[in-house]
Amino acid sequence: MILYNTLTRAKEKFTPFNKDRATLYACGPTVYDYAHIGHVRAYIFVDALARAIRYNGYALTHVMNITDVGHLTDDADQGEDKIERKAVAEKKTVWDIAYFYTDDFFQTMNSLGIVRPDIVCKATDHIPEMIALIKLIEKNGCAYQTGDGIYFDTSRIFHYGKLARLDVKSLEEGARVEPNPEKRNPTDFALWKFSPLDANRQMEWASPWGKGFPGWHIECTAMAVKYLGEQIDIHTGGIDHIPVHHTNEIAQAQGAFGKDVVRFWLHNEFMLVDGQKMSKSKGNFYRLSDITARGISPLALRYFFLQAHYRSPVNFTWESLRGVQKGLENLYEKIRQIQNSKLKIQNHNSKLKIHYTTQFLEAINDDLNTAKGLAVLWDMLKDGDLAEEEKYALALDFDQVLGLGLLAISPRESVPLPTQIKKLAKERESARAEHNFARSDELRRELESAGYDVMDTKTGQKIDVKKCLSGE
Ligand code: AMP
Ligand code: ZN
Repeated sequence: MILYNTLTRAKEKFTPFNKDRATLYACGPTVYDYAHIGHVRAYIFVDALARAIRYNGYALTHVMNITDVGHLTDDADQGEDKIERKAVAEKKTVWDIAYFYTDDFFQTMNSLGIVRPDIVCKATDHIPEMIALIKLIEKNGCAYQTGDGIYFDTSRIFHYGKLARLDVKSLEEGARVEPNPEKRNPTDFALWKFSPLDANRQMEWASPWGKGFPGWHIECTAMAVKYLGEQIDIHTGGIDHIPVHHTNEIAQAQGAFGKDVVRFWLHNEFMLVDGQKMSKSKGNFYRLSDITARGISPLALRYFFLQAHYRSPVNFTWESLRGVQKGLENLYEKIRQIQNSKLKIQNHNSKLKIHYTTQFLEAINDDLNTAKGLAVLWDMLKDGDLAEEEKYALALDFDQVLGLGLLAISPRESVPLPTQIKKLAKERESARAEHNFARSDELRRELESAGYDVMDTKTGQKIDVKKCLSGE
């Protein structure tokens, strides 16, 4: 695989550090509002990447965090905590807010055929790990205390800002009036913030420095290293994370471990709506429910994003999405025709099969060129020299990366459950018989994230391939 590394601004050959298992850390959402279609773009990119890595035969551990504390309204260290602010607005607890919007996020992701990461970790569950990491950074002389928190001293490390190619000198010279005059350098950032004396926070923890809450960046370094170790293959996020969040993650890793822990930094470009930044005030802020309310299937949105390269800006318009919905329907119709075809050509054309498999793999492995992968799929389906059942097998094979739900189009009763799914289903049946509902719920989630619907009926549980094509 060749992947574009933001750190080097070049396409590089990807091989996992540990040949048995690749590691991927994706910056997750801040759960203070509904998931929007910009999130969909970001996580379809991550999902396609994870699927492509697995398609290449690597085992993968995919970790994603949930930011439920510490992300302030200003990406720097001023402003209010987004979740605390929302809790006040909605008259709920911060915990309710985080729970509600996390659930909304995963429901959205699930409808889009996005495979749940192997590990989903919440910032608030990792406060001790963050404190330990800040202590290490402090011990290495890279942190200092001010009146409102513990800050990272960015002048203590080499090449601060190398990811974003920041010109730190001119940043210093041109620094606007610093709201926190105690900061040693304008690029320094909070590792830990003290609870304000004049206001109550709902989320706060004791620490060696005083009661407070973690800065936004420390959670990702702490959780990435906890779950994936000090050598991580790939770290992803949107391009907005390059100048601050990921730049500061690199600084933290250097301050704590004296090295870069991440090898590849991958970033998705932004999605615009009618050529403009999506925002509630402009009335162009869309969620998945806005898409389905117009009778468009969630997977049409997936198809829409797969048609663009993840590093190109993409402009969302209703007209283009409707066009893509038609394209997806044509694809499903083509698959149905193949399934119903009685015409079975006996001579399989293995040369052609290899040709298309190679073309598809080359597209995907060229920095995740899903648009080209889709074009290969269509060329293959239209090729009159290929046997129908070969086309079907190839389409399902490519769909392991594309995730367009092609398997669900096959006659439902003829889809045999894979052994691993049968095993999970059996385990869930036993858990239910033992009234172990926590375990049974856990197994339901596992089955769902593997792409199966679980229904509990009077005659027992029924497992089937997800019906995610209906647009509901
Ligand atoms: P947030 O919930 O704002 O922390 O964002 C979670 C992820 O979604 C980040 O990686 C963002 O870069 C990404 N993201 C947010 N809005 C968009 C957008 N309009 N287009 C693409 N990615 C986005
Ligand atoms: Zn992050």
